[in-house]
Amino acid sequence: MKIKPRLGGGKSGDPSLYIELLDRKRSLLFDCGLNYFKHALLRKISDVCVSHTHIDHFIGFDTLLRLNLTEEKTLQIFGPPGILQNVIGKLQGYTWNICQNLRLIILVQEILPDRIIMTELASWKGFAITNVVERPHSSQLLKDEEFSINYLELNHKIPSFAYSFIEDESCNVRKEALAQLGLEPGPWVAKLKSLALDSAAGHKELHIQDQAYTVEFLAQHLLIHKRGVKITYLTDFLLENQRMEDIARFAWQSDWLFCEASFSEQERDKAKTTHHLTAKDAGKIARLAQVKQLVLFHFSRRYQDYSILLEEARQEFPRVE
Ligand SMILES: [Zn+2]
Ligand SMILES: [Zn+2]
Repeated sequence: MKIKPRLGGGKSGDPSLYIELLDRKRSLLFDCGLNYFKHALLRKISDVCVSHTHIDHFIGFDTLLRLNLTEEKTLQIFGPPGILQNVIGKLQGYTWNICQNLRLIILVQEILPDRIIMTELASWKGFAITNVVERPHSSQLLKDEEFSINYLELNHKIPSFAYSFIEDESCNVRKEALAQLGLEPGPWVAKLKSLALDSAAGHKELHIQDQAYTVEFLAQHLLIHKRGVKITYLTDFLLENQRMEDIARFAWQSDWLFCEASFSEQERDKAKTTHHLTAKDAGKIARLAQVKQLVLFHFSRRYQDYSILLEEARQEFPRVE
């Protein structure tokens, strides 16, 4: 899958991270600040994961609603306790007497500590609740056929959720190995690729050109495993020592770690009282989580010169932008 992540508000604007799944014609959005994305991009969004509903992370919901209103689709909104009331509150700010021909469904997934409540709001009924389903709690919020989204609760005086996009592992066939075994490519290749990702399927047999081979044998000789892309988004929380390990595990070996850095170490007190990170905190998380690239954002507007924050993070972790 070709994946392109980009920040909406730059370094100091309202946070939002747009993750474009280029060959799926579908996009995901982590947080919903005042956004600067093109309208066509906002129409491609299928799922929105909201960290918390402070205004800088949620004000963009209105634009998203406006642009998707005439689409025939389901827009999923994931978020912490209270997200349903926040979404309903926004929708009730408008009059919906001419909505019978609309086809948009908003599906809110409110993540509670013990369960997830899925509430369907139908545009053609003025966004009245048309269905409510509960499902068991899981840190994996979404499982698509090619990727999943996980969350972790952080402390921002209120719950603030971190999100990770994790592309599934995939395998590619080594063409020269195919020739060495004298095998012709065919529909069996796709079958082998899917079986090879199932650890319990090694003993199963595939019949190719009148001969039986085990999945284990074929996988060993023909396939190269490719790890999927991982993108982690961390924002608005206090870095408490006792959570360091959890956070590093959550962001573990991400290809991109998008992490807030509201303040510099000099403003450590301010970071503490507002439950935000310093740039040093962000660098430390990147180092412990062994990520490939750290991207800082959500800089306080007091900083005209971003190099102070970038340099501070670099003292902990080299690959910062
Ligand atoms: Zn906040
Ligand atoms: Zn914020």
